[in-house]
Amino acid sequence: MPSKKVLVCFLLLPLIILSCQPAKDNSGTNHKLKVIATIFPLYDFARIVGGEKVSVTMLLPPGTDAHSYELRPDDIIKVSKNNIFLFINFEMEQWAYKIINVAKENTNMLAVETGQGAFLLPLTDIDKQNGQEEHASKFDPHIWLDFDNAQRMIDKIAASFIRKDSKNSDYYLKNAREYKLKLRALDKRYHKELNKCQTKVILHAGHWAFAYLAKKYNLKYIAAYSTSAEAEPLPQNIFTLVKEIKKLKLPYIYYEDFIAPRLAQTIAQETGAKLLKLNNGHDISKDDIKKGATFISLMEENLVNLKKGMLCP
Ligand SMILES: [Zn+2]
Repeated sequence: MPSKKVLVCFLLLPLIILSCQPAKDNSGTNHKLKVIATIFPLYDFARIVGGEKVSVTMLLPPGTDAHSYELRPDDIIKVSKNNIFLFINFEMEQWAYKIINVAKENTNMLAVETGQGAFLLPLTDIDKQNGQEEHASKFDPHIWLDFDNAQRMIDKIAASFIRKDSKNSDYYLKNAREYKLKLRALDKRYHKELNKCQTKVILHAGHWAFAYLAKKYNLKYIAAYSTSAEAEPLPQNIFTLVKEIKKLKLPYIYYEDFIAPRLAQTIAQETGAKLLKLNNGHDISKDDIKKGATFISLMEENLVNLKKGMLCP
């Protein structure tokens, strides 16, 4: 007969925090907490909050498209060797439940849906805009591009570290507090510096990733692709992108590394606009890692390019 706690956990999965086993406290040991994070923003947040007390790895290798990633059997083994598994939510990593189910049976690993409680944008806007049927996912998964959401994620990460390693709770809380201040400062800079631009539209030849950012800073956003990286580009949106660039005489169009840079080049040739890069956080290359990129450094580069592309002072 399963215990009441196991039944409650089973019923509430996958809606709640996801460890149904008692958290193992690392107090009294000198071992670093082992943490695995699915994608780059989480990986970066975790290594900042965890500092020297935590060893963090990233599940998806650099250069991988996060939206079309398929979980391999050895991924599950790799993840289950950790104390904590961090993922965004079931919109971003639709396969996370597979890891959670295995971990629930076999390990004492804590699985944390860091996007729980985040402000969410529905995907219906882009689907309506393109005359499509409702998207399979209900919400836009790129929640970290709203820096308030990023701060909520930091809190979740810190709480999970404390749950597994309570003796270092002050250390984790301090790191989290300091990092959230940096995110708040970045948010202020975005507000201030994107406030006086000549245009208020992000024209993006990549996939639908920047809606949170656009919403936050009162910008219009048009992307060539939906959130599904494997989908075809949206013809109506390509037409609109070309039309807007010509109408506004914009010197730049935004592209991203992993999704169809060729489409961006074609639009650039058609319109005479040059290409400017925007990084969505989850597309991280080996080169970025080698150069020591951080979430904040990527977002600072984005701000420079947004200002350039939207003709801000
Ligand atoms: Zn994406």
